[in-house]
Amino acid sequence: MFKARLSVACGRVQPRPAKSSVSAARTFTSSAPRSKQRLVILGSGWGGYEILRAIDKKRWNVTMVSPTNAFNFTPLLASCAVGTLEFRCAVEPVRKFSPQVVCYQAWCDTIDFKQKTLKCTPATAPLEYEGSTSAPLAGTTAKDTSDPGTGNAFKLRYDKLVIAVGAYSQTFNVPGVKEHAHFLKDVRDARAIRTRIIDCFEQANQPVLSDVQRRNLLNFCIVGGGPTGVEFSAELHDLLHAEIQRHYPTLARMAKITLYDVAPNILGNFDKSLGIYAENKFRRDGISIKTRHHVERVEKDRMFVKEQGEVPFGLLVWSTGLAPNPLIQSIDSLEKHDKTQGLFTDQNLNVITKEGHADPDVWAIGDAANIKGQLHPATAQVANQKGKYLAQKLNKIVKDQEHTKPFEFQNQGSLAYLGDWKAIYDRSSAETVKTKETGRVAWLLWRSAYFTMTLSIRNKILVPTYWFLNWIFGRDLTRF
Ligand code: FAD
Repeated sequence: MFKARLSVACGRVQPRPAKSSVSAARTFTSSAPRSKQRLVILGSGWGGYEILRAIDKKRWNVTMVSPTNAFNFTPLLASCAVGTLEFRCAVEPVRKFSPQVVCYQAWCDTIDFKQKTLKCTPATAPLEYEGSTSAPLAGTTAKDTSDPGTGNAFKLRYDKLVIAVGAYSQTFNVPGVKEHAHFLKDVRDARAIRTRIIDCFEQANQPVLSDVQRRNLLNFCIVGGGPTGVEFSAELHDLLHAEIQRHYPTLARMAKITLYDVAPNILGNFDKSLGIYAENKFRRDGISIKTRHHVERVEKDRMFVKEQGEVPFGLLVWSTGLAPNPLIQSIDSLEKHDKTQGLFTDQNLNVITKEGHADPDVWAIGDAANIKGQLHPATAQVANQKGKYLAQKLNKIVKDQEHTKPFEFQNQGSLAYLGDWKAIYDRSSAETVKTKETGRVAWLLWRSAYFTMTLSIRNKILVPTYWFLNWIFGRDLTRF
């Protein structure tokens, strides 16, 4: 949970659909009585979902706009991608707060800060309604069509707005990445990766293939040596050395995991000694680390690395950092961080206009925002703490009470799983109780931290149950 996560991204995961061509969007307020102030939350991730949980739903008229109807518990996605946990363990439904909260599964396209309105496009298949300007695209979802929202765009009004839309995956415009690599941002990505891993082994198992073809299929490449890339490599290694070795013993010997990064070391945000510990462990485990390597182009089933030439692969997982969310890019009236392009906020998390004033009705949190003059890592830990802080503030505001205390980040340290029930824990940059741990102790901390952070009682039961079941019976290799 507590990693410095500049390498984590949100990308194809939730690719921004093409802009709607509709000019006359329907305007909605809310079904709740108008006497309450309208609070709109954009995004159901670590920041937005925390507010949804903690906000006083009796006093606020709350609307959630998010293209997904679930919260993704991102630290468990790497485990889900290899079957250590099932997908349900890493999601919490947004709907559990309705009908007190109005939820729209939609993208916010544009924000009009003067009129206090939002233009949104459904993230569901378009439906025909009276006044619709186009025919519905039957059987498709917004995510999969090139013009998903045509005819269905709508407007929402707000009194107070929280922007918590996160960020996208950084690809550095390397050609072919979006088309041929897998990202790991939500359970859909985890499911696609898991299916692909099993596909690779089933394809390689066909009798007609040559050994070279088999080795190519079983070459698993991970680009990005941050915590996400490292944890996925570790989880994949666990899978290969347990169930795959048991069920495909010959193929398991042909499988190879390679972790690429342009930097000289992996886990650059961790204490140096912990990065070295991780590299040594990976080398002992047979995970090849190729630092100072530059991927120049990706094609179907192969990539071209400057220092290595052509590299065929069966699976390529791409995790090289954050790119700004298009909604944030579309905002030009607010101040932004030069490098991250996140919205600047003051210490109360209010966005700052280009004229230098804090907007008292709009807040921005999570990966989409930075407090001016402070640089917190883009992590779930920061997004969640900001969400908690803001919910408290909003609950005071709605009662006309003062809440002037600025946000203060409590650094709980960073954790990363390294495979084989070993991990690293880095609290060396925290203000109090500076400490570092490696190996089994850090792994116990890793598991207990995620178990503690798991939100619902259902998942507090499911997560340890699957850890236990898979320890006894092994991971499920069924391909869905
Ligand atoms: P997100 O959680 O990304 O949520 C953004 C939300 O906004 C999503 O619901 C999205 O659908 C929605 N959205 C996007 N665009 C729009 C739009 N136009 N309109 C409306 N809604 C929109 N951090 C840690 O601290 N520890 C970890 O162990 C850790 N592990 C991670 C593992 C993985 C695989 C990944 C991907 C990330 C991990 N992170 C971790 C980082 C952490 O998940 C992010 O920092 C965190 O999710 C940021 O929270 P957020 O609320 O800003 O954005």
